[in-house]
Amino acid sequence: MATVRGRALTDLMTQRGHEQVVFVADTNAGLRAVIAVHSTALGPALGGVRFWHYESDADALADALRLSEAMSLKAAMAGLPQGGAKAVVRWDDPDRPRPQVLLDALGRAIDDLGGRYLAAEDVGATPADMNGLARVTPWVTGVDEAMGGSGDPSPLTAYGVVCAMRAVVTDLDGDPSMAGRHVVIQGTGHVGSHLARLLVDEGARVTVADLFPGRAERLARELGVGVVSHPDVLETPCDVLAPCALGGVLDATTIPRLQCRAVVGSANNQLSTSYLDVLLMRRGVLYAPDFVVNAGGIINIAEEFVGYDREHAHTHTAAIATTTARVLAYAREHDVTPLRAAEFLARRRIAEAGQGRWQPGDPAAWTNGEPLRRLRPSA
Ligand code: NAD
Repeated sequence: MATVRGRALTDLMTQRGHEQVVFVADTNAGLRAVIAVHSTALGPALGGVRFWHYESDADALADALRLSEAMSLKAAMAGLPQGGAKAVVRWDDPDRPRPQVLLDALGRAIDDLGGRYLAAEDVGATPADMNGLARVTPWVTGVDEAMGGSGDPSPLTAYGVVCAMRAVVTDLDGDPSMAGRHVVIQGTGHVGSHLARLLVDEGARVTVADLFPGRAERLARELGVGVVSHPDVLETPCDVLAPCALGGVLDATTIPRLQCRAVVGSANNQLSTSYLDVLLMRRGVLYAPDFVVNAGGIINIAEEFVGYDREHAHTHTAAIATTTARVLAYAREHDVTPLRAAEFLARRRIAEAGQGRWQPGDPAAWTNGEPLRRLRPSA
């Protein structure tokens, strides 16, 4: 029996509701990977392919289990007819490009799952990896627009963050307008820079920071907004702090230093450990759960499989405002943190779907009866 840090793998799987874990190895291709399918109760399980340096199989497996479950919760809260999964590939240097022979081997393993797992881009992966996988399997998203893909999801992710912010400030003050509110954005990469532009358009006062100061300064010059140095960003007084960099930024050291009324950002796994939601609540900081706020990206990707329609993706993303408001209302009504409320609502939606598992060749549960539009391998 396989174990993870002393615990039987199937114990962990049954405890967290995982359906399937697939280990993949190909000596000639240099591939060592784990694909974890958390749930297909609502439909095929979507999740990123992560190329990362893992010290051990146990680390890779633990990451795959944790991240695939988070994807199920995100999809469930976004109202998507899909579940959550994750593929992690042990790859010593994520900046080293993946040879096609490795992508072929991984693509075959994904193809063997027959559509139960839909691959997407994640940390370390590039659009070139997605295009490479798409040569051998149709079950891959995030390919070039020319191949029927949806392209860069970050503009829609940023739009979803703004929608969540409107719900949060309504909850705080009864007014959804961002005009005149001070928002501090940590990270001016893909999402952070789009977010800054959207907020400036809405009349918000914006301050930006990036690990690479040149990036933040360039954006600040373009938009006429303020800049803070990246070590100071979390303690800059503001209405809303938007973490749009890496995960784990909110921990027992940083939370006591926050000078914001709310945290609403795109970064995945903002809390270094989940119980810190209580510390945030005690500090009077309203934390909008990241997996509710940043769902614009997967909403965009989900559109690819029913025929990509940017307008439809935009309308669906706008619903993040309603979802966030529902989470905050539920949290207040039941006297729990917004994170607990969101986790409960997501798990309830998955449980209500029953024990049913999506089967290859049965797209109806996923596309609500619309014809399945599969992307074709390019070669
Ligand atoms: P990105 O790599 O384009 O940008 C991240 C930026 O954060 C970079 O400019 C980096 O220099 C900066 N940064 C890193 N550490 C920092 C620090 N300590 N202080 C300040 N800046 C720092 O990534 P992205 O695509 O914009 O995504 C941002 C976050 O949102 C990630 O956590 C990602 O997982 C999450 N997310 C992104 C999407 C999407 O559509 N791109 C969707 C859902 C979630």
